[in-house]
Amino acid sequence: EYKQQQQIEESLRIVNEFAAKYFEDILHNDEEGQLIGGAYFQERGFRNNIIEQFRLGYCLDKWDAFITEALAKGHTQELLEKAGLIKVRDGRAYDNYKGRVIFPIFSNTGRILGFGARILKKSEHAPKYVNSPENELYVKNKVLYGLYQSRQSIGKLDECYLVEGYTDVISLHQGGVTNVVSSSGTSLTEGQLKLISNLTKNLTILYDGDAAGIKAAMRGLDMALSESFNVKLVLLPDGEDPDSFVQKKGADAFNKFIEENKQDVIRFRLGLGLKEIGNDPVKKSHLVNEIAETISKINKTEDFSIQADYIKESARQLDIDESGLINLVNKFIR
Ligand code: ATP
Ligand code: MN
Ligand code: MN
Ligand code: MN
Repeated sequence: EYKQQQQIEESLRIVNEFAAKYFEDILHNDEEGQLIGGAYFQERGFRNNIIEQFRLGYCLDKWDAFITEALAKGHTQELLEKAGLIKVRDGRAYDNYKGRVIFPIFSNTGRILGFGARILKKSEHAPKYVNSPENELYVKNKVLYGLYQSRQSIGKLDECYLVEGYTDVISLHQGGVTNVVSSSGTSLTEGQLKLISNLTKNLTILYDGDAAGIKAAMRGLDMALSESFNVKLVLLPDGEDPDSFVQKKGADAFNKFIEENKQDVIRFRLGLGLKEIGNDPVKKSHLVNEIAETISKINKTEDFSIQADYIKESARQLDIDESGLINLVNKFIR
């Protein structure tokens, strides 16, 4: 059974590699590929070397251009479907990424595990991104987009930036910021954190400056703390993400913004929380509890002086008694 699993994984790698090459070839050499896909990337400011490094591609806006080619080259419909490259409805197969630009998702060794595919024009009926389904090869909670291209730099700089999207990773790389991975829109998992912790314990979360981004950042946060990461957060200006920021303002301005706006977890929570609670005592006690719980997680790093600083600072900002907060923190530890 182990052997069978290995065989399925290998056949998925092979069909993914075939597909990636095909989508790249379309982007670079086909007329529609250049006119539509190429123009799209150009408009977004992606230059050729970065397009090649990340092996971006384009899937023609036809129902069966890819599947026809794939079947002709001997790939089975069953495997194409398992890989998520095609869909079958009412007995008819069609290209799953029709008319989309393609972002291959790499393993640590540069093999292709799956794809993200972005629609070019806003649509109410179709999702912005379509991603490969989970299968024997592509296990989402064990994959971070960009890790293959970023891992060396993450180790060397001893810091990892975590962003939301594919295009954030790519634009930052193009700007020379190469220690960056993306959780691809899902909230961070333990498995993904393990991948990072092999390289560094310093994690800086750069999520979109919108409500969804803040929520997603919060969710990843407690887990990272529990895994004893040193976590910092940066909220980007409203309406910006790392991609739009670095494309508009350049890498120097981006780096400066990060340095000036890096917040530790407690200050980040306090800042957001204090804005929210107003004069409501119920909300305030809820926030006090949240802060205490977060501080209790930092305890796992066994750096008690940091914890003591956090307690002092939080008590001051919340206008509560320090010893009361200590008791509360201890309750969460036990
Ligand atoms: P772009 O710059 O191309 O608009 P983005 O990365 O800024 O892309 P966001 O809307 O910020 O897009 O979403 C962040 C990430 O979440 C995406 O990169 C993608 O991985 C994932 N995502 C977004 N929308 C969807 C969707 N409809 N289905 C699945 N994944 C999605
Ligand atoms: Mn967003
Ligand atoms: Mn975004
Ligand atoms: Mn974006």
